[in-house]
Amino acid sequence: MDFATGSCNACGATGTALMKLSLGKDFFGRTYDRLSPSTDQSPKWYCEACSMQKNLQRDFRDILGEFDKLAAGQASALSTQEEFQRASLRLREIATLLTGTAGHAPFLTAADVAQLIGRMHTTTMQA
Ligand SMILES: [Zn+2]
Repeated sequence: MDFATGSCNACGATGTALMKLSLGKDFFGRTYDRLSPSTDQSPKWYCEACSMQKNLQRDFRDILGEFDKLAAGQASALSTQEEFQRASLRLREIATLLTGTAGHAPFLTAADVAQLIGRMHTTTMQA
């Protein structure tokens, strides 16, 4: 029996359904090479709450990275109004989902999300 497959890789939860998380595409539809099935050398297993948060964290990081580029005046996936709007909506969704998982947040805090929403809001005001 392989003990490592019996607990969540993030919070260590046991005795609950675990799912192998495939992070094949990022928020902007780009491929995650490191985590593609053929090159992923260390697949992770997460319980439901952690896998949900892991997905939120992934989208958050994608959006944060692109927003930092936008703020620095570089080419960014958020340059278009449509993508910027989509990312803003997703952040609000993430913030809402996070409040439902308070106390179970190994990946992402509501404060991080609120800060990015605030930064993006300021940018919108300037536009
Ligand atoms: Zn977990």
